[in-house]
Amino acid sequence: MRALRDPSATCPWGGEISHRSGPHGPGAQYDLSMTDALDTRSHVALLPPGAVAPLAQRRHLVTEVPGPRSRALHERRNAAVAAGVGSTLPVYIERAGGGVLVDVDGNALIDLGSGIAVVGVGNANPRVVEAVTEQVARFTHTCFMVTPYEGYVAVCEALNRLTPGGHAKKSALFNSGAEAVENAVKVARHATGRDAVVVFDHAYHGRTNLTMAMTAKAMPYKNGFGPFAGEVYRAPMSYPFREEGAITGEQAAARAIAVIDRQVGAGQVAAVVIEPIQGEGGFVVPEPGFLPAVADWCTVNGIVFVADEIQTGFGRTGVMFACEHEGVVPDLITTAKGIAGGLPLAAVTGRAELMDAVHGGGLGGTYGGNPVACAAALAAIAAMVDDDLPGRAKDLGELMLARLRSLAVDHPQIGDVRGRGAMVAFELVHPGGTEPDAAEAARISAACHRAGVVTLTCGTFGNVLRLLPPLVIDEALLTEALDVLADAVAGR
Ligand code: PMP
Repeated sequence: MRALRDPSATCPWGGEISHRSGPHGPGAQYDLSMTDALDTRSHVALLPPGAVAPLAQRRHLVTEVPGPRSRALHERRNAAVAAGVGSTLPVYIERAGGGVLVDVDGNALIDLGSGIAVVGVGNANPRVVEAVTEQVARFTHTCFMVTPYEGYVAVCEALNRLTPGGHAKKSALFNSGAEAVENAVKVARHATGRDAVVVFDHAYHGRTNLTMAMTAKAMPYKNGFGPFAGEVYRAPMSYPFREEGAITGEQAAARAIAVIDRQVGAGQVAAVVIEPIQGEGGFVVPEPGFLPAVADWCTVNGIVFVADEIQTGFGRTGVMFACEHEGVVPDLITTAKGIAGGLPLAAVTGRAELMDAVHGGGLGGTYGGNPVACAAALAAIAAMVDDDLPGRAKDLGELMLARLRSLAVDHPQIGDVRGRGAMVAFELVHPGGTEPDAAEAARISAACHRAGVVTLTCGTFGNVLRLLPPLVIDEALLTEALDVLADAVAGR
């Protein structure tokens, strides 16, 4: 396992959990009256003013999970927050650092979700915290469309430099992944003068009206929310575990292209939008050759090839961007999540002539490229590069894949183990076949949660358990989380 560049940065959160022996320690009496249990500010008050106490990188449970304070907060939430907004594990977080989440009951949980692939640089990464703190004191907002600032420009320069391809590139910044995807489609339509957008089975691109149309899965993302935006066509994906027979990447691409030709015709297509490794759809890694063949077909037909790297980007898969695994150079690339260490920021980056095709004022938004988020992104990107977090993701991935593959030998409900870098998953099936077993995935995930490991599920069939640890996670902490996972799979 390669260490982070600066040995003192290996565990920048090292130390003790501040309130482990405080009022929430083992045996503490929990007073759940409205004034005490529900006022989480009392916990923050345990820290000296302005100080950020270091956080031990270890799992430590002092109550059941969720504990009484989380349960009380959950009741309050149920009365105040719309029921449509879900939470995977309703423990209410008070602090986080590196690969650890600390809840209001004082439980320290291992984070294998990174807030859905966001805090790759670690939660509350010290460099991000410092940059944000400095920026927030200087100014919080002007609106780049009114009076601009350097941070926005510097983030665009970094994206233009880091994304695949040596051609001239330009970027525009937004707030969320869905917004970036919408804007990539706007750019592609404007540049080509065409309407149609092609996406794939199992795709996830967001929850806005256009991106709901582009997302494949009905529940919970689309049901009852139509009508959806038009001119969106869906092609078959390369999903090696679920193919009827052996099919190469090139053959799977030819199958997809035939469907596109039949449905709409290449001449009508503005953009093909694809996740190089599908995220919400089940961590689907296409057969080698699939992505390059689709990209080449786009080039030949004047179609804008858009790589949605919102989940795969910024080192997650062992390289800075997942397209690099197969030498694919997208015309446009959408990014978000891992870009800014937890602050909301998203981008479209791509060929300068495409990005510049849109008339002045045609792209933007009040908050897009907020200065605080840009400061966070510059610090996060510096941490990724300086500490070689893509290299670290590769090492973490090897550790996780080896462990999961050996687990699969003894547990026939694990039908497939797959992933790249620190984006790893296993698919639960009824033993002896490929029939999805969502209940088994939910059982294992719930057992991990009870034991203090935050895991996420995904997949069109809800039967995939995915591992997305922060790229800075301690190897020992990750190994402990995998031990917990192994016990959960075994039903111990
Ligand atoms: N595209 C991909 C590949 C994603 O994984 C996601 C989020 N899961 C999105 C788009 C949408 O991003 P956001 O939730 O920030 O709108």
